[in-house]
Amino acid sequence: MEPLTSKKKVLEQKPLTLAERMYLPAIAKGLSITMSHFFKKEATIRYPEVEREFSTNFRGMHSLKRDEEGRERCTACGLCALSCPAEAITMIAAERKPEEKDIYREEKYASVYEINMLRCIFCGLCEEACPKEAIYLDGPIVPSDYLRKDFIYGKDKLVEPPLNKK
Ligand code: SF4
Ligand code: SF4
Repeated sequence: MEPLTSKKKVLEQKPLTLAERMYLPAIAKGLSITMSHFFKKEATIRYPEVEREFSTNFRGMHSLKRDEEGRERCTACGLCALSCPAEAITMIAAERKPEEKDIYREEKYASVYEINMLRCIFCGLCEEACPKEAIYLDGPIVPSDYLRKDFIYGKDKLVEPPLNKK
């Protein structure tokens, strides 16, 4: 049969030495690699006793912010929900009553504000879209749970605690 190419590489196989036949160089090489790892920085940590430091641009759980006077900043404009690619945000807007001026900063507020943490991809677009600096992804990691319904976070979990209770 005609060869496919004119290039030829002749492989020479030298007979193995006694040491090679007893795998001694291979064992020594393997051990030297193992030993070198003793002096390297560990790649793993002993979680959960030790926790890694998060990167400065880590995005965690959302928090709905209050202003300097402790009033909820969110005005239920819906821009965060509109910009959410995962359609994870649901809200119901309500009008502020005169006696609620100390609770809500704007005339309109979110009477219901829910985020489905199973849908959220922590992209941060809601934070970017908010014109009132009312939502930030500056919380911890969303904890694990067993039931889907427990991943729907309402205002009880999202709104910052009142100033005097911090
Ligand atoms: S972080 Fe992204 S996916 Fe999650 S609620 Fe905000 S916009 Fe939606
Ligand atoms: S969190 Fe911001 S963007 Fe979302 S409804 Fe409230 S004010 Fe609007």
